[in-house]
Amino acid sequence: MRVDILTAVPVQVTGALELSVIRRARGLLDIRVHDLRDYAVGRHRQIDDYPYGGGAGMVLKPEPIFACLEALGSAPDEVVFLSPDGEVLTQHLANTLSLKQHLVLIAGHYKGVDQRVRDALVTREISIGDYVLSGGELPALVLLDAIARLVPGMLGDAASALSDSFQDGLLGAPTYTRPAVFRGMEVPAVLCSGDHDRIAIWREAKRVGKTLVRRPDLLEALEPPPATEG
Ligand code: SAM
Repeated sequence: MRVDILTAVPVQVTGALELSVIRRARGLLDIRVHDLRDYAVGRHRQIDDYPYGGGAGMVLKPEPIFACLEALGSAPDEVVFLSPDGEVLTQHLANTLSLKQHLVLIAGHYKGVDQRVRDALVTREISIGDYVLSGGELPALVLLDAIARLVPGMLGDAASALSDSFQDGLLGAPTYTRPAVFRGMEVPAVLCSGDHDRIAIWREAKRVGKTLVRRPDLLEALEPPPATEG
C-alpha cells in the first residue's frame, strides 16, 4: 500500500514515522511525506492566507494542495482530509481503508483548508474524535497507525489484531503475563490451565461483560433487528 501525506509541518510526521509500529510498516508500506511549502505560491511563497469574509485564523490555500496532488503521478483510491467535522474514525473504517492500494492524507492547519480542496479533491473526511487539535498531522498519524497494523506482515502474530477491541464489535479481554502472582494479585487460574476451550469461553465472557458495562451501544449494534410477524 502507498500512503502520501500532505502537510505544512512535515517534521511532525517524519519524526513519528521513525517510531514503533509505523516504523516497522515502512518496509511494507510506501509512505511519502510531502511538504506543502514545496508547492507554495507567489513572491512570498505562501501556503496560507486570510479568510474571505473576515474572521480569525488563516486558511490553507488551494493552489499548493492541488499542485502537490497533481504531482503525485498516480490516481489514489481515496483522498482523505483529516477534519473534526468528518466521519468519526472506527475500527470498521480502518479495516476498509487497509484494503486500499493508495491513500492520500491531507493534514489541515490553522482554520482549515480552502473549501474548494474539500469539494474537488477530497473523497473522505475523517475525524479522530469530537475535539479540536491544532493540526491534522497527529490525526493523520493516528489513522495511519490504525491502518498500518492491519497490513499483512505488520504484527508478529496476525491473530493479535483480530482479537483487539472493536474488531468483532466487542471490547478486548483482560491480558496477563508472568509472574502468576504479583504483590498478592493472582492471574485467573483458567488462563494457566492450558485448557484452550475453557480459556476461549472465559475470554469471550469477559469481553461481553466489559462491553456490557462500558459500551452497551456496541452490543446493541450487534443485535439483529427484531423479527417481524407475517
Ligand atoms: N476550523 C476547523 C473546524 O472548526 O472544524 C478546525 C481547524 S483545526 C484548528 C486545524 C486542523 O487540525 C484541521 O483542519 C484538521 O486537519 C485538524 N484536526 C483538528 N482536530 C481534528 C480531529 N478531531 N480530527 C481530525 N482532524 C483534526
